[in-house]
Amino acid sequence: VTNSLFMRIRSRFPSDLSKVLIETAEGTTYSYGDADAASARIAGLLTALGAKKGDRVAVQVDKSPEALFLYLGCIRAGLVYLPLNTAYQAGELAYFMGNAAPIIFVCQPHREDEVTAIADAQGVEKVLTLGTSGEGTLIHQAADFPAEFTPVACADDELAAILYTSGTTGKPKGAMMTQTNLWSNAATLEKLWGFGPDDVLLHALPIFHTHGLFIACHCVMLSGSKMFFLPKFDRDQVMALLPRSTVMMGVPTFYVRLLSGDDFNADVTSGMRLFISGSAPLLPETFVAFRERTGKALLERYGMTEMGMATSNPLNGERIVHTVGPALPDVEVRVCDDKGNVLGTDEIGVLEARGPNVFAGYWQMPEKTAEEFREDGFFITGDIAKIDAKGYVHIVGRAKDLVISGGFNVYPKEIETVIDKMDGVVESAVIGVAHPDFGEAVVAVIVRSSDKLSEDDVVNAIKGQLANFKVPKRVFFVSELPRNAMGKVQKNILREDYSAVFA
Ligand code: ATP
Ligand code: MG
Repeated sequence: VTNSLFMRIRSRFPSDLSKVLIETAEGTTYSYGDADAASARIAGLLTALGAKKGDRVAVQVDKSPEALFLYLGCIRAGLVYLPLNTAYQAGELAYFMGNAAPIIFVCQPHREDEVTAIADAQGVEKVLTLGTSGEGTLIHQAADFPAEFTPVACADDELAAILYTSGTTGKPKGAMMTQTNLWSNAATLEKLWGFGPDDVLLHALPIFHTHGLFIACHCVMLSGSKMFFLPKFDRDQVMALLPRSTVMMGVPTFYVRLLSGDDFNADVTSGMRLFISGSAPLLPETFVAFRERTGKALLERYGMTEMGMATSNPLNGERIVHTVGPALPDVEVRVCDDKGNVLGTDEIGVLEARGPNVFAGYWQMPEKTAEEFREDGFFITGDIAKIDAKGYVHIVGRAKDLVISGGFNVYPKEIETVIDKMDGVVESAVIGVAHPDFGEAVVAVIVRSSDKLSEDDVVNAIKGQLANFKVPKRVFFVSELPRNAMGKVQKNILREDYSAVFA
């Protein structure tokens, strides 16, 4: 039994179970003992409803302490936890239910009828509800079950969760995460980032994604520390809680929003020992402004749903702007060309990773899985990168976003970096669009802060700095870039929007 993920997490709970694990925005606290008892009751209920080891429990609920206890209850009962983004609508839910075939679906109370209809059509046996304050049938029915539940034994390679990718480049894929995948990454990060019992994590991320669920919550539970659990990123709330926190994990937009007011400064962050950024590229301007304002260097790390974290800038040691740091101690990374030849220092290619954190494959997509793995077990991430002489990884972009114009490889990030430095530019996205002569042509989509900035201004400024084939053939101004729930720019949508520009 000791090999199950739940037992390993549980073994790290503080001996004094009355210690606070979660404090909500309203100041309500939940102890480690509460988490232990609630997860036992939920495990009891799900089992009584017929869920057996390996069955999927799909969950589409708002963030709440009970939602975290539901995760714990699932892994305690040997069930496979399958969280879904609350933004997904009826048609998308039908896809997930059909694809993952869960036995139980837990949804928001106000969507019970809608979800039940889809669940019936897809053969999902039972629908339960869970609201933001623990209301709904899940917790109500779980109350009838004991506060103790013997964890179901699971082998290291058995599934603990299926996590869908963010769908930034296409349809989300279900990444199968084993007990070892989750445990190894949790233990590695908790140690690497120096978590201890006195830490207080400021948690404003969603918990349907690897960042907020596994990376953040596991670090807290493994160190017996506490977290402020906010329903979403609310600048005022975060500002108010920073003085009582020690660590924050966020996506880059969190830090941009914090920096947008002068009240975010060295005073308010003086008690913070660590700010971690990931899930999307951190702009160098943000890194620099953050250090100027607070005297602290943001720690940028890199990972993906399929493997949790793979690289991280160091806790002690140089955090280098524009890099995501070296590989984690138990992870190997390399950069290869299309054919799988390993490239040398500073050479650009596709990043590959291998380690105990790397997933067991895409749920019900054996061909896709086979395509993404090398024979020696390395996972082909689909991110373009280079590794420098210090072993630090630089993410250059996604393979799917690479533009090939007139036979030349164009890395959008290089052009975006130049554009983002221009006066009057808030942010930019560079994409490739079908072009009769060049195959693909470079197009820039820009959010500007000054409407004086023109297409010619942008093109002329870039001409002086980059080779001609990298200069955008067209520039478009928009009020905002399309982003998914994790704050990532959805270039597939932009490519579609501008697909006919040169037709
Ligand atoms: P999908 O695979 O469905 O298209 P997605 O790749 O965005 O969506 P996630 O698993 O949430 O889904 O995100 C992983 C990706 O996020 C990585 O492959 C990488 O492109 C990007 N990423 C994560 N951290 C960083 C970082 N620090 N810098 C740059 N990119 C990052
Ligand atoms: Mg991906």
